[in-house]
Amino acid sequence: MLTCDAYHRPRSLADALALWGAAPEGSRLVSGATDLYPAARDGRAGDVHLPALIDLSAVPELGGYEIAKGRVHLGAGTVYQDFLTDPVLRQNLPCMPHVAIWFADDQIREVATLAGNLVNASPVADGTPAAVALNGAIELARLEQGGIRRRTVELESFIQGPGRTVIEPGEIATRVSLDSCCGYGGAFQKVGQRRSLVISVACCAALVRTDAEGRIFEDVRLALGGVGPGPIRLREAERLLRGNRIDTETILRAADGAAEHVASRSRRDYRREVVANFVRAALEEALDARPNRAPSHDQTKETMANA
Ligand SMILES: Cc1cc2nc3c(=O)[nH]c(=O)nc-3n(C[C@H](O)[C@H](O)[C@H](O)COP(=O)(O)OP(=O)(O)OC[C@H]3O[C@@H](n4cnc5c(N)ncnc54)[C@H](O)[C@@H]3O)c2cc1C
Repeated sequence: MLTCDAYHRPRSLADALALWGAAPEGSRLVSGATDLYPAARDGRAGDVHLPALIDLSAVPELGGYEIAKGRVHLGAGTVYQDFLTDPVLRQNLPCMPHVAIWFADDQIREVATLAGNLVNASPVADGTPAAVALNGAIELARLEQGGIRRRTVELESFIQGPGRTVIEPGEIATRVSLDSCCGYGGAFQKVGQRRSLVISVACCAALVRTDAEGRIFEDVRLALGGVGPGPIRLREAERLLRGNRIDTETILRAADGAAEHVASRSRRDYRREVVANFVRAALEEALDARPNRAPSHDQTKETMANA
């Protein structure tokens, strides 16, 4: 059971920062609360009693998004359902709808935020590899000398390991910035253990832009989740593909190299085996999903494990 001495629902960022800065040790922030509540309810974290619970869901400064200079700046309140329903986000962040379609269920997607997914820093989070492939960065704000001080940290440095980030006491994540990838095909492959509400064993996000004839990889972004303590950007595979012909041999070479990154000790052989397969599948799916190109197969398919 989750209980708290004080529950706050601030109506401005300044109020939220003031409450958070003054909150007694052991207090928690929540956005959608889809990580915190189930842990308490299921007893995984035991009975949880908090001095204060600060609910960020009514802070207007954390809503909405803007697009500027090739970047999409998402308010930290952006929920997974937005990546399915907002046509501008679908166009600019083409791998995110593929992540969202396999993320939890309708109810969870309506409240679960990308920012919460990143701050929670689970090695099997679905949003982290996609955000890393989009060159993601997170903006953190805190109150300092009566004003709001902000800093921006690239996601690859933000996530330090399972459940560990560089967020400091008193800081609130205010936005997540991602590359605008209009014109790219996007994909997400997820290997799970059951069909509904699958938590990944491993996952792969891909973004692909080709020349007009569809013969050359102009740009490729690839990132893995669930195979190590944090998300892994597959830069070697990207380099191998960029500027090269789109053919089976090149794709297989890049996919085989990706399996070398599997560091997770649990079910290591299994993860290595599937990684090469779904990097290939993610690339093919992203190629099929390029705008103005008729898909040749189901673009949101999921690879199911025989666990
Ligand atoms: C049934 C179910 C299915 C799920 N399926 C998936 C899935 O398919 N894939 C997946 O990746 N995850 C899944 N999850 C986990 C969870 O939904 C995600 O991690 C979600 O994105 C968390 O977002 P949230 O807004 O609910 O975070 P919260 O639970 O509110 O917070 C998570 C953590 O982030 C911190 N936090 C939240 N917002 C901020 C902020 N603005 N600034 C600073 N700290 C903040 C909180 O203090 C907490 O430590 C599932 C959960 C459930 C219950």
